[in-house]
Amino acid sequence: EVAIRLRGVTKTYENGTRALGPLDLDISKGEFVSLLGASGCGKSTALRLIAGLAAPSSGSVDVPARASRHGIGFVFQEPTLMPWTTVRENVRLPLKLAHMADAESTPRVMDALAQVGLADFADAYPRELSGGMKMRVSLARALVTSPDVLLLDEPFAALDEITRFRLNNDLLALWRQLGTTVVFVTHSVYEAVYLSQRVVVMTSRPGRVHAECHIDASAPRD
Ligand code: ADP
Ligand code: ADP
Repeated sequence: EVAIRLRGVTKTYENGTRALGPLDLDISKGEFVSLLGASGCGKSTALRLIAGLAAPSSGSVDVPARASRHGIGFVFQEPTLMPWTTVRENVRLPLKLAHMADAESTPRVMDALAQVGLADFADAYPRELSGGMKMRVSLARALVTSPDVLLLDEPFAALDEITRFRLNNDLLALWRQLGTTVVFVTHSVYEAVYLSQRVVVMTSRPGRVHAECHIDASAPRD
């Protein structure tokens, strides 16, 4: 079952920068795929097009999850948490935007926080947390809607290596448990190979697929 299908997708920004394509990409439901490539090769652009945060200049982007109730979870490189409110309210935000009452959303928020190991930090403020913990909160916020598709844009790039290694392992465990389709953007060969079932290598210009490799050893990893 196809979760994401891109056909002949290109993106040219208003200033004339040709950022992508033409790109063809098929991702199956439940797959963990990395988009790997140097800075500027169009990885973030591809992710934003998949999320529907930007429109392609040509071609088609087909992501059934965008029309589903669960939709898409997006994690950005910067944690982008609201500093004036608690971890709990930060994670609640997507459900609040979906007009869910607090009484209904609170157990889901607490579940999502437990999934990322931060159940005890619901009342903390973002400034009280380490970089790794802030990233966990971002992940919980993306998972709180039980999204069909999880998109991660270099989520751990700003973290130290040990924290990053822990978060990689926790993300893998979550993926195995939840069965969500994951698209993980990174410029780290190590991270792409360690995490993914399939690595899509993009060229720097003009942002096409250079190669794909399947990481057989990674599936299933019990
Ligand atoms: P990556 O995520 O692989 O680093 P991006 O998708 O961010 O690549 O960028 C691809 C190209 O598009 C780069 O040359 C970048 O400078 C350019 N670009 C990205 N966003 C914009 C924008 N909003 N306006 C103009 N150019 C952009
Ligand atoms: P991460 O790997 O998520 O960045 P840290 O290395 O910052 O986590 O911390 C490891 C663990 O120590 C956290 O998951 C958390 O349970 C606990 N911890 C970190 N900072 C604090 C804190 N300020 N108060 C209490 N416990 C903390």
